[in-house]
Amino acid sequence: MQRNAVTSCCKGTLFLTWGNKNNIILRLSRSSLRLKKITDAFVFAREGRVLEGALPLAVLERLHDLVAEATGEVQFRLCGFKGSRGELMLELRVTGTVSLACQRCLQAISYDLEVDNRLELVPEGADLSQDELEDDTRDFLPVVRELDVLELVEDEILLSLPVAPRHEKCGLPGAAESGERPNPFAALAGFKGKPN
Ligand SMILES: [Zn+2]
Repeated sequence: MQRNAVTSCCKGTLFLTWGNKNNIILRLSRSSLRLKKITDAFVFAREGRVLEGALPLAVLERLHDLVAEATGEVQFRLCGFKGSRGELMLELRVTGTVSLACQRCLQAISYDLEVDNRLELVPEGADLSQDELEDDTRDFLPVVRELDVLELVEDEILLSLPVAPRHEKCGLPGAAESGERPNPFAALAGFKGKPN
């Protein structure tokens, strides 16, 4: 599977639905997180470096549409290493609890993140063979050199979230009754689940 290149080109796209005050906070947080960039991901992997820390949900802007509230933080640990064929790899683990909106009752649902992925670094623009692209055991991460850790963490969290999170049992009285209070999101969830 080929992933989108993680570059810094999307940086600075602020979340327009947030209030001005929040935008200012986000901007400040972003600039203080500049250190969360790896200058050369290939060197990072080759030398077996480790970077770990916490990221406030407030700065993980691409998650804001999906979470019930953008508070708290997630912990990440990024390890560089060499694979059995000498390939340069990154292992990313992300933990933390986020609050998603239940697609049935729209109330918050607590969700524990469990990201534990191994990514194979390839130079951006590298030609991957058809065999490599179809190899489900390998995940390729095209990188120029610099790696934006915040965007990588965002990417991996987005890929790990359930498409239609739901409580096992919704607490709302009447939630199980049919015909009452039709939920527009329920139709959407069904639509998303259909092939094509
Ligand atoms: Zn629910």
